[in-house]
Amino acid sequence: MGTKNVVCPECSSVNAVEIDVESHIVECSQCKGDLSDPFTLDVSDDACMKHITENDIAVFVDFYSTTCGPCMAMYEDYEDAALGFGMKVRFLKVNAEKYQLVAKEYGVTGLPTIIAFKGGKEVDRVSRQLSLVELTMWADRLLV
Ligand SMILES: [Zn+2]
Repeated sequence: MGTKNVVCPECSSVNAVEIDVESHIVECSQCKGDLSDPFTLDVSDDACMKHITENDIAVFVDFYSTTCGPCMAMYEDYEDAALGFGMKVRFLKVNAEKYQLVAKEYGVTGLPTIIAFKGGKEVDRVSRQLSLVELTMWADRLLV
């Protein structure tokens, strides 16, 4: 039986999770936080890099700013899309006004930009507002 690493949304510690318990609530070994929590996570540069590099599950990073109209217009759709992917795709948000290191690292020039990562590597990116349907389809594609 294999395990995969899942970074805790609460404390950012790395947990090795049995693949066959994916569909159940899984507690973080450090803080008892829920690893299958499907909600979006507003993260700093440090936490973002940890999620990108340590997670065996796919990771979305939405680079946004509060003064960007399309970013704010996508806010709710991004949250709704995340609800369907607990323990499958981690939906992160980085406020690119406050945190610029990760955005620089990946050459993000316009907002919103959403980058999909798998196994620590960028696999896809989009630099425009996506609808709920587009976000969901995109996340689905990452699972195959
Ligand atoms: Zn934790």
